[in-house]
Amino acid sequence: HAKEHRRGSTTFFSQEHEDAIRAERAVEAALRVADLAAEMEMHYQPILDTRSGAIALVEGLARWTSPTLGRVSPDRFIAAAERCGMIHTVTLLLLHKALGDCARLPPAVGLSFNLSAHDLASPETVIAILAAVRLSGLDPRRLTLELTETALMRDFEQAKDAIITLRALGIKVALDDFGTGYSSLGYVHRLPLDKIKIDRSFMADIDTDLGCSLISTIIDLCQNLGLDGIAEGIETADQLDAAQRHGCRYVQGYLLGKPMPIVDLLQKLDRDAEVERLHA
Ligand code: C2E
Ligand code: MG
Ligand code: MG
Ligand code: MG
Repeated sequence: HAKEHRRGSTTFFSQEHEDAIRAERAVEAALRVADLAAEMEMHYQPILDTRSGAIALVEGLARWTSPTLGRVSPDRFIAAAERCGMIHTVTLLLLHKALGDCARLPPAVGLSFNLSAHDLASPETVIAILAAVRLSGLDPRRLTLELTETALMRDFEQAKDAIITLRALGIKVALDDFGTGYSSLGYVHRLPLDKIKIDRSFMADIDTDLGCSLISTIIDLCQNLGLDGIAEGIETADQLDAAQRHGCRYVQGYLLGKPMPIVDLLQKLDRDAEVERLHA
């Protein structure tokens, strides 16, 4: 039997690998026949300004419910869309939804939107993003685009040019998941960025001496570069306390608010405004 041959050899590992590949192929297949506009929606997670305690902006996080596969995580379907050559379509569809939702938010609340590593490398996509923003009528200064280190490392010069173009229009640029890449420190000062999002793995280690000093080092780095630091993955009061103590201005995480549909976000903003009025 096939199984007998596999046992004890490296092909045992490769069985798991095969299963993983099959699962990813299933995501690709479902994506190809998906009614993207109907099956995908955006959720929004608050990012708080620690100085005011108010929601400064929200991060849009894509959600896909496939009729055949059920909920598929964005990490997986974005990667699948990249492999299928569908990422341009998916990015623009999600951006369109997010810009529409953003028009319903108070002007003081900004929108942070994730780009895939492939988006910046495609001049057509960058142009289409700019056109979508212009068409939406949104003040570009309310928009932040989040890029990962992989996006930048694909083609550094091209990414840099795209960032310069976006920023010239007032759009802000954030480096997402900072500290998880392999050469973050090597180039971060060579890019015209506005914000750095400190990966949540650093928050998870905050109760260790090393974790604590790493966080304070990264926050100092942000300050020295004149960039806003955003601590991701704040789940406990201790983590929030540590981020604030080290001078991190913006915070995001389950403790402060989970990703939620636009209607829930609007209700939350109404409630916050009500509390504000009562305290005034
Ligand atoms: P990301 O941009 O780093 O987003 C943060 C992820 O951390 C989100 O996962 C969010 O739900 C989760 N998160 C937030 N606070 C906490 C916390 O306190 N604890 C923990 N454990 N997790 C927290 P999600 O929504 O599953 O998204 C995963 C990744 O998928 C995102 O990472 C982003 O890289 C990608 N993604 C999501 N939406 C989009 C999109 O619209 N376009 C693109 N290109 N990528 C997207
Ligand atoms: Mg992000
Ligand atoms: Mg992140
Ligand atoms: Mg991430």
